[in-house]
Amino acid sequence: MSIEVKNLSKYYGEQAAVNDITFSIGKGEIIGFLGPNGAGKSTTMKMITGFIPATEGSIHVCGIPVSVDSIETRKRIGYLPENNPLYLDMYVKEYLEFVGKIYKVKNLKERVKEMIQLVGLEVEQNKKIGMLSKGYRQRVGLAQAIIHNPDVLILDEPTSGLDPNQLVEIRELIKRIGKEKTVMLSTHILQEVEAICDRVIIIRKGQLVADNLASNLQVATDNTQVVYVEFDRIVAKNLLQKIPGVSKIERVSDSRYLIESQSVDDLRKIVAQFAQQHNLLILTLRTEEKSLEKVFKSLTK
Ligand code: ADP
Repeated sequence: MSIEVKNLSKYYGEQAAVNDITFSIGKGEIIGFLGPNGAGKSTTMKMITGFIPATEGSIHVCGIPVSVDSIETRKRIGYLPENNPLYLDMYVKEYLEFVGKIYKVKNLKERVKEMIQLVGLEVEQNKKIGMLSKGYRQRVGLAQAIIHNPDVLILDEPTSGLDPNQLVEIRELIKRIGKEKTVMLSTHILQEVEAICDRVIIIRKGQLVADNLASNLQVATDNTQVVYVEFDRIVAKNLLQKIPGVSKIERVSDSRYLIESQSVDDLRKIVAQFAQQHNLLILTLRTEEKSLEKVFKSLTK
């Protein structure tokens, strides 16, 4: 196991920010650590990275107990903290060399060059960090997190505050880097989990409320499938109601519809067959992933 957390708690005075949580993350997994603001995500991550001590429970990283040897576990962890604290007056290259020195990285110049290429900072490498956009600062944050080639990456809200284009780019980068590492990524954004993660751990008020494959979580709790479809002409509602298993139809505009079904068969196929039978052309057909959102809401309410 890359990360093993057992009966972990953290108290701030009387308040339990993290309350008796247990989970483990296998080598190579990409885990979404999901929960509303204040759920205890950052606190958990700070304990795993050894930045704050646990009140109770144990944490092992690559088999090493954090409470006994956090210097060793830190060597195996790359950490991008929330809000990515950086030295804004330092130059990109200078900063990465500075971090590399702390980790005693060998062939440092070469390694920094490699990192700059990997995260796409070639053009910005001679700029001051303070001059960079938020998206590029995140790239610097990711580069410093992996410069010592750790096995485990802990990313605390890595895409918060990014614009839609930066968001896609940073997600792609995390996916690319994550291919060779174990990644634990916290977020309060569901789409993030859907875009990047294999498994999702949901936390609410310091307690673990779900731990499952993202796909299982959707199927286990709710069979509802929703598709967005645009036909080449308006279709009468009573005709659409003949689609097998259909439970709800909503006309979005003109000839565009949201169709909801409880069928176990793939709703896209069913709609395609229906269109063929009634000489309709499909101009757009898209699955709407609504169920994970429902699960999240019901678990964290
Ligand atoms: P999340 O990362 O999910 O938004 P946090 O781990 O930051 O949640 O916070 C969990 C709870 O612990 C919140 O209620 C927060 O106010 C509280 N908390 C976090 N850090 C401290 C601290 N240093 N002192 C007191 N309370 C804290």
